Amino acid sequence: MAYTKVWADDPNLNEMEKKKLQKDGLDILNDIERYAQEGFASIPKDQWDYFKWAGLYLQRPKEDGYFMMRVNIPSGILTYAQAEVLAGIGRDYGRNLVDITTRQAVQFHWLEIEHIPDIFKRLASVGLSSVGACGDILRTIVGNPLAGIDPHELLDTTEIVQEVYHFFQRNYDFSNLPRKYKMSISANVHNAANAHIHCVSFVPATKVIDGEEVVGFHLWVGGGLSAKPYLAQELDVFIRPEQVKAAAIAVTTIFRDYGYRHKRHRARLKFLVADWGAEKFKDKLVELMGELPSKGTTQLKEWNAGYFYGVHPQKQEGLNYIGFNVPVGRLSADELWELARISKTYGQGEIRTCNSQNVVIPHIPDDQVDKLLKEPIFKRITIDPPSFTAYSVSCTGIEYCNLALVETKERMKQVAEYLDREVELDIPVRLHMTGCPNSCGQRQIADIGLQGVLMKGESGMVEAFDIYVGGTLEVEHAQFNQKLKGRILAEDVAPVLKQLLLYFKENRKSHETFFDF
Ligand code: SF4
Repeated sequence: MAYTKVWADDPNLNEMEKKKLQKDGLDILNDIERYAQEGFASIPKDQWDYFKWAGLYLQRPKEDGYFMMRVNIPSGILTYAQAEVLAGIGRDYGRNLVDITTRQAVQFHWLEIEHIPDIFKRLASVGLSSVGACGDILRTIVGNPLAGIDPHELLDTTEIVQEVYHFFQRNYDFSNLPRKYKMSISANVHNAANAHIHCVSFVPATKVIDGEEVVGFHLWVGGGLSAKPYLAQELDVFIRPEQVKAAAIAVTTIFRDYGYRHKRHRARLKFLVADWGAEKFKDKLVELMGELPSKGTTQLKEWNAGYFYGVHPQKQEGLNYIGFNVPVGRLSADELWELARISKTYGQGEIRTCNSQNVVIPHIPDDQVDKLLKEPIFKRITIDPPSFTAYSVSCTGIEYCNLALVETKERMKQVAEYLDREVELDIPVRLHMTGCPNSCGQRQIADIGLQGVLMKGESGMVEAFDIYVGGTLEVEHAQFNQKLKGRILAEDVAPVLKQLLLYFKENRKSHETFFDF
């Protein structure tokens, strides 16, 4: 039975809400085959927004008719067959380009409507989907990229993430949320999923119940970045692994039925949580789920920000996972193809994507590691990248994104390379660049965050950046970075960061990190 849209008669709904009442976002899936036959010009402009529910955005400039597609990779786990299909799509339709996002998803650019049905078919043939990767719906679920292989994980979350992902895929009960909705489910004790910044996060925890220690999760809600960032709040509940799906449904139901639908910029779950507070949110959750035990002990230790460079032993004896750097998350499709081949030749044919925009190849036997590392591709995609290149993250930026104010990806890469030549530091400094306040590049959690702006120059508006310092998601003292006074022209970013980092190097006390400083 269809649920009741309790907001349907609200006279103050925003324009997008009115559109979603006329046509559900998922209904665009019924139209795409026809548009593909009739061509881009046959798509009415008022239908463009709905493509997001299929994981498709029109790339900049919209009128040219090229699409960006985001593909869900739950927990970032890709089989050989899936990686091969993704590489094939990139090669055949996406100008040989594949981006890894800060949610472990994969993005293509330059796709044309005529090719989308074939791309959907190829994705479906290996159990992948772009549906729900964009739009007012549950986005790709961030998980532990080391799920099932991590010697330190509290439990293997692979199946839980799959179960929740499949429940929400193409689910009309939850396809009309107030806005985008982000979830993480991870038992990685180093907070690899960045639990503080999702709408809802399942965080590793334990609790003694009836004299026995039970492994499960704490539930954090109301995190999110963009122009008004919030750290998630912990609810006083303990969730057993078998309750994760029910809890995910309950939180999503609360967001669907109580989330704000008047102003788009106030429609994220974080605003509801900020207004209600953790106590009231928990009461509503209990109303839907029944009584829950109070929270136990968090099992989060120091934060690794989703970085896994180098060769590490798995929980399976004799096997290793190897973490590689993909500079600013951009691969060629040929490189993805090659990574898939290597993962099969030396291991079990699996690649994992990380929210740090990097990759891990798991299941490599001890005696195959050295041989694998001699493969030519690992000269660029390396286990031992120079420091600033290693810890640089960038959003898509003006190259393809309609909301961008400035160019980011290539710029971030060049700035990192410059700093690697000019500054020597014995600790990593995480640099994040975003092209607008939406913060897909997650600048708020960076040691140094760079947010693109436009500034008045001598002959019109020019690209510039605001600089923010001191972000961290360390367990005890998570905080967003703070804006420095003034803004800098885009061409000055590299030398200004050099000065800032040299000042830090000269004045820091020993072992002081950028955050402590
Ligand atoms: Fe586009 Fe802004 Fe997101 Fe960058 S942060 S990809 S510019 S919306």
